[in-house]
Amino acid sequence: MTDLTLNDGRRMPQLGLGTYQIPDAHVPSVVRAGLDLGFRLVDTAALYHNERGVGEGLGSDEVWVTTKLWHDQHGDAAAALDASLALLGREHVDLYLIHWPHPSGGKYVDAWRSLVELREQGLARSIGVSNFLPEHLDVIVDTTGVTPAVNQIELHPTFQQRDVQAANAARGIVTQSWSPLGQGATLKDERIVAIAAAAGATPAQVIIAWHLAKGFSVIPKAGDLDHLASNWQAQDVRLTAEQIAQIDAMDDPDGRMGPDPLEV
Ligand code: NDP
Repeated sequence: MTDLTLNDGRRMPQLGLGTYQIPDAHVPSVVRAGLDLGFRLVDTAALYHNERGVGEGLGSDEVWVTTKLWHDQHGDAAAALDASLALLGREHVDLYLIHWPHPSGGKYVDAWRSLVELREQGLARSIGVSNFLPEHLDVIVDTTGVTPAVNQIELHPTFQQRDVQAANAARGIVTQSWSPLGQGATLKDERIVAIAAAAGATPAQVIIAWHLAKGFSVIPKAGDLDHLASNWQAQDVRLTAEQIAQIDAMDDPDGRMGPDPLEV
């Protein structure tokens, strides 16, 4: 398992387990199965209403836990993190993210200032953002002087957001891919299916191997335990430079599947 070094000096596992839409009652067994396989990063959020179950699945294991601040609490991040920690049953999280900039609410700078304090208090060991466009990164960095460690963004072969990737890289921010498999849809893309056949791997493994080869952190979600095991084994898949270039060429600026950060 490879780690990435963040701009705050901490090391984060590159491959993790996403938990969006895994219900609270089901998520403990998925997390436990993930830990048994070797996963050491679990991604959740207050919005997912499964932090209690994630915490139950983790038990006391030393695992990187990421959770996120929803925008109805941009003005009250300390209370929001307190509630998340209580549900997770943890003293701290490894990474606390502002889930969306929600520019129309006008409070993401306040939220960022609070996250900086929460890091100073040790309640969030690392802090970052999600769905931030370069303009939002500039505002928080210019205002506080503190650069996020991670920007978690929608990123899959048919929506690669190269402008945001470049903005992250220029600021020393790790890009973490959400919906890395295109919510499952990209697994059926004939270009991916062809590369998978040539590589002797599954479509999901090929896409995960591409994210890893590009240097992104990646958090595929799998509620199905066979999918989970297969995704873990993607670390052993090596793509050729040509296969990586073929997936790079799938980028489509209109390929967004989730919401537009300017409209959330
Ligand atoms: P993904 O791109 O990870 O796709 C998940 C889908 O792919 C599920 O239907 C899953 O099925 C299927 N799948 C997974 N592995 C395999 C496999 N090996 N073979 C076949 N099918 C497979 O989508 P998500 O939207 O869930 O994104 C991943 C994570 O990113 C989320 O869970 C969440 O943690 C995070 N996220 C963050 C957001 C943000 O705003 N910051 C927004 C959205 C997601 P099954 O479940 O049946 O295994």
